[in-house]
Amino acid sequence: MKESETERLVCVFEHGRVFPHIFQIKECMFILWRPQKRQFSLYTSTQVPDEFDRNVPRICGVCGDKATGFHFNAMTCEGCKGFFRRSMKRKASFTCPFNGSCTITKDNRRHCQACRLKRCLDIGMMKEFILTDEEVQRKKELIQRRKEEEAQKEAQKPRLTEEQRNIISTLVEAHHKTYDDSYSDFSRFRPPVREGPVTRSASRAASLHSLSDASSDSFSHSPESGDRKMNLSNLFMMYQEQGLSSSPDSKEEEGSGLSMLPHLADLVSYSIQKVIGFAKMIPGFRDLTAEDQIALLKSSAIEVIMLRSNQSFSLEDMSWSCGGPDFKYCVNDVTKAGHTLELLEPLVKFQVGLKKLNLQEEEHVLLMAICLLSPDRPGVQDHERVEALQDKLSEVLQAYIRAHHSGGHLVYAKMIQKLADLRSLNEEHSKQYRSLSFQPEHSMQLTPLVLEVFGGQVT
Ligand SMILES: [Zn+2]
Ligand SMILES: [Zn+2]
Repeated sequence: MKESETERLVCVFEHGRVFPHIFQIKECMFILWRPQKRQFSLYTSTQVPDEFDRNVPRICGVCGDKATGFHFNAMTCEGCKGFFRRSMKRKASFTCPFNGSCTITKDNRRHCQACRLKRCLDIGMMKEFILTDEEVQRKKELIQRRKEEEAQKEAQKPRLTEEQRNIISTLVEAHHKTYDDSYSDFSRFRPPVREGPVTRSASRAASLHSLSDASSDSFSHSPESGDRKMNLSNLFMMYQEQGLSSSPDSKEEEGSGLSMLPHLADLVSYSIQKVIGFAKMIPGFRDLTAEDQIALLKSSAIEVIMLRSNQSFSLEDMSWSCGGPDFKYCVNDVTKAGHTLELLEPLVKFQVGLKKLNLQEEEHVLLMAICLLSPDRPGVQDHERVEALQDKLSEVLQAYIRAHHSGGHLVYAKMIQKLADLRSLNEEHSKQYRSLSFQPEHSMQLTPLVLEVFGGQVT
């Protein structure tokens, strides 16, 4: 420090009640206002003399009273803070009744406004800071108001009724009982066979998959979801641009060697059983007529399977991972069970979109139940009853989202959109299933349950 500044500092402390007007801007940076030069100096904490430590008692730089903090750029008491603000606002001009050099103390600070104001300016108080300070105040008030509004909202949040809470816990329990996330049963299915004759569809999907691997590698340094999304749509676009979308004439080529069909047929059959088990536990489902239960199950089973499979779907590699490497299914594997990209492309997109909704388990199980209890399914007789059950579930879902899904005002709409997506997936699946099941060598690989549930429309 230069000598003049040191003198100034010494001077400040000689007066005994003047606190250095320093304020901290960062952990180790201090700004010192030098009133005589009317300029700031910047110091790091190591340069600043000990006396300037923040632990120095807080004393008003104007009057020596207990200070409450930095006000308009100087450490002052509330009284001097208010005095300075009022004076600046009124643009007051005071005249000292004495000789213009009054010593301002806590007790006499009201006696001479002129010297008090001069003292304020001397220690660095700035009218430019007044507005800022008020803004800070306004901000504080705003924050406070928001807090209050938040608390009010919290208080107004629709509490779930006991019945609604019971429905949710019933559904969650039903799901736990029917979805084994260890996938240990999968080893009992006919084994997956990924080799064997490569169908045109499968080889296409294989090239698609290797492309997918390649591009995910090139993005591996930044596995952003955006990149992933881009990869996916690029892949599908490439696929379409090459004019490789499946055509009816490919069916014959696929006639033999659907090596994954037995395993995936068993997997679907198993999943249907689980969906039935889940449906039976949905409150009200078993009160429906047997015919309506069957109609609902037949038409929604594949949709619920698609929904529940999202639990094993991974955005990392766009596949369903159900335990070991044998039970990790990519698009390629499903083409080896006779499905084409007309189904698989929108299915993967659906899985990605659903995954990104980050649903809570409660929402996930409610969505499955709502899907199952759609009154507009073909063959449903007691429309109104099914609709009443579905409405109740929808209300539970909406109430749950309001109460538990922060920022979830769009979640419900997005979930309902997923149900619409499922309808077209269902339609495409039926189409592909029909053409598959028309071929005896394939339909013989299916299980009686699959034939019964999916085969209804064919006969
Ligand atoms: Zn004061
Ligand atoms: Zn005076």
